[in-house]
Amino acid sequence: MKPLSADDIRECIVNASRGEVERMPLPGLHEVMWEQREYLGWRDPRAPLRGYLVHWVGDRPVGIVLRASSGRMSPGISAMCSLCRTAQPSDQVRLYTAPLAGQAGRDGSTIGTYICADLACSLIIRIVPPPSAVQPDPAAVVEARAEGLLERVRSFTAGVAKTAG
Ligand SMILES: [Zn+2]
Repeated sequence: MKPLSADDIRECIVNASRGEVERMPLPGLHEVMWEQREYLGWRDPRAPLRGYLVHWVGDRPVGIVLRASSGRMSPGISAMCSLCRTAQPSDQVRLYTAPLAGQAGRDGSTIGTYICADLACSLIIRIVPPPSAVQPDPAAVVEARAEGLLERVRSFTAGVAKTAG
């Protein structure tokens, strides 16, 4: 993805108040490997259930605030992230809810989905098996996964943003 500046991020959050956006901690942007990311996701170190997700829609960054459910899924089963579609141990996937943009969100409406607990789908989709007869080209596997991930991220944030007034 194209790099995001701190200003890009603070100006693009669609579902939080000014105050919440001002208090939002940012990750170390100079350390991000942008070319290996479909979206930038991070958890709030001071409020561990809070998370943030920002990506580009054309030339426009779109960001949302998320809240992780405090309940964990039963251990020992596997779960699937709805954005990257990677199946993994259930403690590595969380139910996240996002307040809807605008008045709907202030009135308490949210939408939820299961996402990798660390909001790092871009890392997990780049783990590929070595080339084999079935999957001769790991780079093509990553590319297909990245396209699917980006499409599902856009559709999720579009659902959050559509109630913006
Ligand atoms: Zn994921």
